[in-house]
Amino acid sequence: MAARPTRSPSKKQSPKYIFIVGGVMSGIGKGIASSSIGRILKSKGFKVTAIKIDPYINVDAGTMNPTEHGEVFVLDDGYETDQDMGNYERFLDDTLPSINYMTTGRVYQEVIRRERNLEYKGKNVQVVPDVPIEVIRRILEAQKLAHADVTTIEVGGTIGEYENILFLEAARMLKQKFPHDVAIVMLSYVPIPHNIGEMKTKPTQHASRELNSVGLQADVILARATVPLDQKRKEKIATFCNISPERVISAPDVESIYDVPANYEKDGLGDMLTEVLGLPKRKTDLSEWNAFARKVKNGNKELSIAIVGKYFNSGDYVLSDVYISVIEALKTAGFHNDSKIKLDYLDSEDFEDGKRELRSLARFDGIVVPGGFGSRGVEGIVAAVKYARENKIPYLGLCYGMQWQTIEYARNKAGLTGANTSEVDKKTPYPVIDIIPDQKEKMLNKNYGGTMRLGAYPCVLKKGTIASEAYGVKKISERHRHRYEVNPEYIKQLEEAGLVFSGRSPDGVLMEIAELPKEVHPFFLGTQFHPEFLSRPLSPHPLFLAFVKAARAHKEKK
Ligand code: GLN
Repeated sequence: MAARPTRSPSKKQSPKYIFIVGGVMSGIGKGIASSSIGRILKSKGFKVTAIKIDPYINVDAGTMNPTEHGEVFVLDDGYETDQDMGNYERFLDDTLPSINYMTTGRVYQEVIRRERNLEYKGKNVQVVPDVPIEVIRRILEAQKLAHADVTTIEVGGTIGEYENILFLEAARMLKQKFPHDVAIVMLSYVPIPHNIGEMKTKPTQHASRELNSVGLQADVILARATVPLDQKRKEKIATFCNISPERVISAPDVESIYDVPANYEKDGLGDMLTEVLGLPKRKTDLSEWNAFARKVKNGNKELSIAIVGKYFNSGDYVLSDVYISVIEALKTAGFHNDSKIKLDYLDSEDFEDGKRELRSLARFDGIVVPGGFGSRGVEGIVAAVKYARENKIPYLGLCYGMQWQTIEYARNKAGLTGANTSEVDKKTPYPVIDIIPDQKEKMLNKNYGGTMRLGAYPCVLKKGTIASEAYGVKKISERHRHRYEVNPEYIKQLEEAGLVFSGRSPDGVLMEIAELPKEVHPFFLGTQFHPEFLSRPLSPHPLFLAFVKAARAHKEKK
């Protein structure tokens, strides 16, 4: 069946809001739940937009350490946000603006700015109701900007914490104002303790009471568990959480996040939400999405790709969340190349202290070096880049990965021994990567938050290169997040040594893509920007497609 065109329910239909809140504990997939709800409603032909609320004081996610908070996802307009915004863009196949992301810090900053501007006209400005009012103002503005029939609002954290209480108060106030237009979905966790071997609903009952204590009642409960819920558990949750058993949706572990929408639909979530919100009944059509979800797991060819990075380890755990958009972009490109991508996360420091031999890279069909900051592990990165170049293994460098690709080339092919980035070595004889002039002052003034070169910028491609062939157009737009660039003073030398700058800013000053000609290396390409932010399941990114294609060819040749 053809995809249903987006249309408004009716002229008179008021906009609808769905708050997604978490019970029992964090980390059980609120972001994917929100994204999946959005996808289901979009597939019914409703216009959907998605908001994320992070209760941190940080004004944006840009100042948070990735090993603590995960990936920093950059929007077109340059706002540095949480990785869930990436999930929303991928699931909704839409570009979201910065108004759709807010933190406690951002909200307070705005309230204080208004107070300083006398916009409260001399009255006392109070935490309640003025802070929730600002939260609601932002929600309504996001809805208006997107002309959304339905706006999903994911409230970070867990019910019962101090941190998100003002956001829950905003939900309560909005519901009081528009009782028929606001739904509350609680994502809860239903554990099966090892020693008991039985699914326990008590924590969910407590979470539901906590929610009641802030004046909210869940309309739907998504019960996360390792396995599907049986009817008995559904009834128990229903009785003690004050809803009907049909409103308890089973949300078991699934093989891939892309299976979640179909899984919710098994319990009829889409129709349930439209019923709660008084939206017209429409058929859910996830056929295109589900075809993707099926194939992403079952691609014909398996390709082994190494991600060589520096933000993997935290204590005894490996954190792949830091590179989630890179991983999703690779998987998506695999799907569109009929390949299943198998990823290995290699900590670049292991190449420095001999824990891992460079030769171990030989078995990979492709190597990716993603973005990063600072000096730890960079010599390991440069060694891996050199290995990929000399052994003709397809290489994709993203931001820092492109900068280290350039440094490697400078050191080993352009005779610039000791070349470096001034981010790591201020005294290097050859700063082939140097700070962007307008960033220097910001650094001197310790003006760090939200001041990098951020967001979408145009880039012009050079004809006859891998990049221009991959994109098939002359001018592109990609998202950025960096302070350093290829130093214009070394461009000529690097070009003479054979490196091709196949993408530049329209004024020709900033090098956006570096690559080697096809005759020299099948795929040795790096981008100053982050293409991973624009890859979507149903519209993959051309550079990731080209990289995976090269990895496939490399495997076939091996
Ligand atoms: N640290 C580098 C810079 O600031 C690269 C940043 C990145 O990889 N996002 O330019």
